[in-house]
Amino acid sequence: MARRDPYRIHRWIDRFVLVGIVGVGLLHPEPLEWLQSFGAAFAVLLGSVYAGAWLVTRWAERKEERIQGPRRKPPMLREEAIVTAQAMWVMSGLIAWPITQARLGVETGFRWSLEGTGWTWWTASLVTVGGVVAIDAWTYWKHRALHTKALFGFHRDHHTFRDPSSFAGFAVGPTEALWTFLPVLAVLHPKAIHWGPSYLVLVVGFVSLNLYLHSGVTAKIIEGTLPRVGINTSAFHNVHHSHAKVNFGEVATWWDIICGTRLQDRAGTKPLPEPAEPEPRPEVVQRPSSAV
Ligand SMILES: [Zn+2]
Repeated sequence: MARRDPYRIHRWIDRFVLVGIVGVGLLHPEPLEWLQSFGAAFAVLLGSVYAGAWLVTRWAERKEERIQGPRRKPPMLREEAIVTAQAMWVMSGLIAWPITQARLGVETGFRWSLEGTGWTWWTASLVTVGGVVAIDAWTYWKHRALHTKALFGFHRDHHTFRDPSSFAGFAVGPTEALWTFLPVLAVLHPKAIHWGPSYLVLVVGFVSLNLYLHSGVTAKIIEGTLPRVGINTSAFHNVHHSHAKVNFGEVATWWDIICGTRLQDRAGTKPLPEPAEPEPRPEVVQRPSSAV
């Protein structure tokens, strides 16, 4: 007898998000402009993430040692790429809004120059550091929430990749993607100043870090520097994929240290058995054949 899918509702909400993000976009006063922004954003985002993931994966393949030891099954590149495309679809549906506003000449909070903003270079730097702290808190608590029984269904896909490749860096379900990237809409407010140069550095830095976090290997120089300021690394995040219940930090490791959610704080946390078994129960591993 077929087992009832415990994540049926989550799957429906995920589908609703995929369709709804475009549906809401079409409510824009200039729907065709919005669609153009959406399409361009999707092509650029997906192309960039795939290209970056491909480069990091090639680099990782040359490494002799993987964090989890030799692969016990082939990497799920295709599955990772499909889930990534869904996340980029949602992300594009969000940033299509500020892009369209800018194209229509409507003022947003995005500025290339600090002139007229009342900000100095120091203010901008402080806000940038504050932005990293805020994004880290947002993603850590989102991730903790997604590991509760009620919400894990939105996070299940990411944990099918126990020994991930960089193609899994952004391989999160549609609802999780919406939750993760929702803060990008803040830029729509003209007073929410986003200074272009630092914003670009943050975005490129976040994307690069995320690709590295899922590479499955370590780079000595990165592992030797980033932990000094509490920024996440591949060695740290890979443990989340092998153990699931620890190391939740996505940008930094501060909250894991504060909350005692690192592997070393939770002695006795066992690695997930192979093949990957998403929480909370082993029986959820099998995807019903109807759900593709
Ligand atoms: Zn997780």
